[in-house]
Amino acid sequence: MRLDKFICESTELTRSEAKSAIRKGLISNQAGTLRSGSYKIVADDIIEFKGQVITTRGFRYIMLNKPAGFISSNVDEQMPSLLNLIDIEKKQNVFIAGRLDADTTGLILITDDGQWSHQVTSPRKKCEKRYRISLQDPISDDAISLFAEGIQLKSESQACLPAKLEVLSEKEVLLTISEGKYHQVKRMFAAVGNYVTKLHREQIGEVELDHNLALGESRFLTEQEVNGFK
Ligand code: URA
Repeated sequence: MRLDKFICESTELTRSEAKSAIRKGLISNQAGTLRSGSYKIVADDIIEFKGQVITTRGFRYIMLNKPAGFISSNVDEQMPSLLNLIDIEKKQNVFIAGRLDADTTGLILITDDGQWSHQVTSPRKKCEKRYRISLQDPISDDAISLFAEGIQLKSESQACLPAKLEVLSEKEVLLTISEGKYHQVKRMFAAVGNYVTKLHREQIGEVELDHNLALGESRFLTEQEVNGFK
């Protein structure tokens, strides 16, 4: 893909603003400043705009702080797709790497790199996800050991993989799981007789939700964050 096209697809710059940024020497790759809009991006390019990595390897990688009321689908259904919240071109090409329920908030990763998305979501990779959870009832004394042993969910033949539960207060916990079964967190707490009143994802693998992002805001991942899944 041409550099000028790539920049306006990966940022909020228009084609003419992208061309102007190139003329002003604001765009570079690992080898230095790129001065031609017709430069063809190669697979290993790490493109920077004003010194900030906008993406690596010619793909786009984005984190979104998802608010409640948006669905993890590429198209609007009964509720709007979370893709309405991000301002990039060619949204039809992106993957949502790990879904959240409509009422769940927090970290969502979005990319058009199918292989990378697979690294994040494949059950075989056992990628860890950490959730901050508010509960209806006080957490029971035996909860940490029950989660560590593997919770048995209703209508599942196999118990969940061991999960790490950290108790923050009577009704607030952090839970780290390495699977992604349907409504898994809510069902795990239901299995121990409790009820999730608020669910927020804070981390996927090594990528932590950026505290500077308000609900509904997004940013491109850094090169280091992207490489955490390789
Ligand atoms: N587990 C759930 O129950 N819901 C989510 O959105 C994510 C994990």
